Amino acid sequence: MRADIHVCSDWRAAHDRPVYTLADACPECGADAVNSAPAPFNPEDPHGKYRRSLKRRRRD
Ligand SMILES: [Zn+2]
Repeated sequence: MRADIHVCSDWRAAHDRPVYTLADACPECGADAVNSAPAPFNPEDPHGKYRRSLKRRRRD
């Protein structure tokens, strides 16, 4: 079954993890929500851990 699941286009900057929605905009930050099917990112990509650790460090 295919569903039109969208993901916040700005989730990397705005959220700790992808925010999925069926709407055209992110319900949390209002950014455009883009189709998640041809994902332009991979949540498990090898650089994800690096990016997340950088983000955590900036918050300290
Ligand atoms: Zn968002």
